[in-house]
Amino acid sequence: MSSSGEGIKDYDLIVVGGGIVGLAVVAALAHTPVRVALVERRPFPQRPAADTRRVSALTAGSERILRGMGAAGALDPARAGPIRSMVIWDGDAPGALTLGAQEIGRERLGALVPNGEIAYALQESAGKAPNVDCYCPADWEELHGEGELAECRIAQSGASLRLRAPILAAADGSHSPVREAVAIGSAAWDYGQSAVVAEIRPQRPHHHRAYQRFLRGGPLALLPLPGGHCSMVWTLPRARAEGMRELSDAGFGQRLSRAFGPELGTLEAVGPRGSFPLGFQHARTYTRGRVVLVGDAAHTIHPLAGLGLNLGLRDSAALAEMVAEAHRTGEDPGSARVLGRYQRRRLPDNLLVAAYTDGLNRLFGEPGRFIKGPRGLGMNLLDRSGPLKGLLMRQGMGLMAGQGTLFRGEPLNGAGRPKD
Ligand SMILES: Cc1cc2nc3c(=O)[nH]c(=O)nc-3n(C[C@H](O)[C@H](O)[C@H](O)COP(=O)(O)OP(=O)(O)OC[C@H]3O[C@@H](n4cnc5c(N)ncnc54)[C@H](O)[C@@H]3O)c2cc1C
Repeated sequence: MSSSGEGIKDYDLIVVGGGIVGLAVVAALAHTPVRVALVERRPFPQRPAADTRRVSALTAGSERILRGMGAAGALDPARAGPIRSMVIWDGDAPGALTLGAQEIGRERLGALVPNGEIAYALQESAGKAPNVDCYCPADWEELHGEGELAECRIAQSGASLRLRAPILAAADGSHSPVREAVAIGSAAWDYGQSAVVAEIRPQRPHHHRAYQRFLRGGPLALLPLPGGHCSMVWTLPRARAEGMRELSDAGFGQRLSRAFGPELGTLEAVGPRGSFPLGFQHARTYTRGRVVLVGDAAHTIHPLAGLGLNLGLRDSAALAEMVAEAHRTGEDPGSARVLGRYQRRRLPDNLLVAAYTDGLNRLFGEPGRFIKGPRGLGMNLLDRSGPLKGLLMRQGMGLMAGQGTLFRGEPLNGAGRPKD
């Protein structure tokens, strides 16, 4: 107890934010000697709702990371649809790119998994570990990131508790209150677009192919779910996106079928539609004092390449590896040296992906005819480029993004390699 009568609990790591990225940091460290506190504002659901509107395309690299984190349950074929190939084409000019897993000797490029399933599998892995305390639902009221220890005061069920640790990870999303509290600025802009999401029943089989058509207002993606349906992410200027959400199912299906083209036959919307305003954000630094940013708190990117969460999972794997290693060697995990290492490891990958997703959105939103010709030519050349295409595919699949234990699909606690 402190002199003010408040309880104090000491940990090796505090994670604020129990979205997928925060849960991933905790799950990665489950059953290691590292003592972890997780603070999440919303209650954890008992079982994921069968919501196929919020799904994520996970790269093969992220599938490996999740296995290493003990969350292979999310990749069960009944819930996760394999993505075997992908076709990207320009809706405004000739130009197409086809990527097939077989071209680089693999069976799949990745998988499409409902977000609720990923969170639940990580929660199962993290929540049962003896070295993890989950404060949920709980919010922090005061936070300090400088000095000997990072501290945050939380309120839970009317009681106040001070949590202390040498390092505090902010996994509290795009508008990160922790990032703001420690005064880390960001480069940020609004795309003026929203992503409309829905589950779609196509007339023809999708053959586990992901489709992305670049239209002038933004890209339209249909991603293969198990059972023959697709998950749609359609980026549109914000006012048009709102209009789409308000259309009847029949009216929406007609607009969608027209915009997508004949490849999958008639497209029918199943269930309610959702919409998410899109913006870009990249923190000016990932660390301040003893605070480190992971996932959307560090970088929020356009969803057109389906890579935001994949980057967040790589952040969480890199951070967990560094904290476990510092604990093993007796190094201070919140020291400038260790946190600097984290930033050097994650910044190039995050910046590269943030820049090319932003660039693609601008390039394909550009109506000028002088840009359309080179754009189509570039896509067609890349399609026939052999080794360059293979390299880009491996990069896109996250197979070149890290070399640590979790990146190989192995757990940090050394409890044997999980099956692929
Ligand atoms: C339409 C759309 C489609 C997408 N598709 C893909 C895809 O296919 N593939 C992909 O890789 N990425 C995709 N993304 C990106 C991906 O969804 C995000 O990158 C990812 O969900 C970010 O996870 P996070 O855990 O960092 O943040 P969040 O999911 O925002 O989680 C933050 C957590 O912090 C908690 N929190 C906030 N403040 C506090 C506080 N004060 N105290 C305690 N807890 C707090 C919140 O309750 C929340 O649980 C998509 C995004 C959109 C919008």
